[in-house]
Amino acid sequence: MGVVNELDNDLRSILPGEWFTFAEGRDWNALREVQQSVGSQAIVRALGRCGWIAPHWDVEHGGRGLPESDAALAIAHLDSLAVPRIPRGTGFVLAAPAIRQFASEETKRRFLPKIVTGEEMWAQLFSEPGAGSDLASLACRAVRDGGEWVASGQKVWTTLGHEADIGMLLARTDPDVPKNNGITYFAVDLRAPGVELRPLIQMTGEHEFNQVFLSDVRIPDSWRISPVNEGWAASNASLAAERITLSGQGAGGPQKRSILGGKTTDEVLALAHDRGLTPVQRQRLVEAWINAKTLGLTVGRMRGPAGSITKVMKAKSNQELQCLALEILGADVIGWDGGVKSEYARYVREFLRTRANSIEGGTSEIQRNIIGEQVLGLPREPNPWAGQPWTQVPRN
Ligand SMILES: Cc1cc2nc3c(=O)[nH]c(=O)nc-3n(C[C@H](O)[C@H](O)[C@H](O)COP(=O)(O)OP(=O)(O)OC[C@H]3O[C@@H](n4cnc5c(N)ncnc54)[C@H](O)[C@@H]3O)c2cc1C
Repeated sequence: MGVVNELDNDLRSILPGEWFTFAEGRDWNALREVQQSVGSQAIVRALGRCGWIAPHWDVEHGGRGLPESDAALAIAHLDSLAVPRIPRGTGFVLAAPAIRQFASEETKRRFLPKIVTGEEMWAQLFSEPGAGSDLASLACRAVRDGGEWVASGQKVWTTLGHEADIGMLLARTDPDVPKNNGITYFAVDLRAPGVELRPLIQMTGEHEFNQVFLSDVRIPDSWRISPVNEGWAASNASLAAERITLSGQGAGGPQKRSILGGKTTDEVLALAHDRGLTPVQRQRLVEAWINAKTLGLTVGRMRGPAGSITKVMKAKSNQELQCLALEILGADVIGWDGGVKSEYARYVREFLRTRANSIEGGTSEIQRNIIGEQVLGLPREPNPWAGQPWTQVPRN
């Protein structure tokens, strides 16, 4: 039996019959309602249990062991039926690339199967108050104690940390070597004694981020993702994947949204039909539409540092689109009271949320540095502290 037939068999036991009718008729509104009644995460979990979330991964890791070409057919089929296929949180998109490339077989078998089903939700504990763009200067420490590690320090901007079970933790395990060489990448249980989360409220009024304080948190060595002191390379596997995700890669499902937030070009186009446009707005909308199409076609081909190109483009075009939508709405969006009850208020919310697109996952300035240095081969930024032990380098 072909891969698509096998997938269809499983889908028929997971999804209600009307899903297929609505998907074939491209009736996204009806599909959204069915999705809400079944629950996206329930669908993802059932698909994950059958190995369809990552069909090319080994069976022991939660996949089906399919060749890449068959896996691509399966994913394309899920997308053609608008089936949600990305587990909530950052486990699948960010932690898994590092685990698959760097962790021991035991660690892979411990974490990957629960990542594909979404049974364990992950959050990213990389940034610190003094280490954002210059992530390698991070100060959170982990010290070995027999078969365990003891971690202490502060992390910040931890998206959805309050809903997550496990954190991707970068910690300094050797302070006496240059900054990039003394970091180790761990998984940490966010419910372990010594982990304290404090909410950060963003300008949309929502609670998306947290500060995370770690005080003598014990981590078993089997939860170490990278070899000791080789966490920088492993963190780059996560960061490269993050840039590509933030370039607008879709999450499947009838929402057709990227995780960056923001109204889609189709929604703004519908708004324009309804409200009318000035000639200049018309040009900007056409430009936004072309950008969205070009990005959609390009992002699937991006690998490694080149992902910074689409990350910068997506942040810029998404922000411009939300600005245009507010201009079309004019006076209707001036009196925002912080709520999202009306459709207009949701446009304001999306405008505010997408201001973060040029910061999250590394700022646009940092992406341009990566493009310059790693894609175009231009000279590196001057660094007077290169080669110095971390302890000798001044920090913010
Ligand atoms: C919505 C959102 C979600 C996030 N989620 C997470 C998360 O889940 N986990 C996590 O660990 N972090 C998360 N972050 C943090 C994010 O990765 C950092 O905010 C980002 O890397 C920038 O770091 P910073 O805020 O410390 O700014 P800084 O590094 O202090 O930068 C300040 C300014 O200086 C500029 N700058 C700094 N260095 C250079 C340079 N060398 N060349 C040119 N310009 C420079 C920057 O571009 C920026 O404009 C999130 C951030 C946002 C906004």
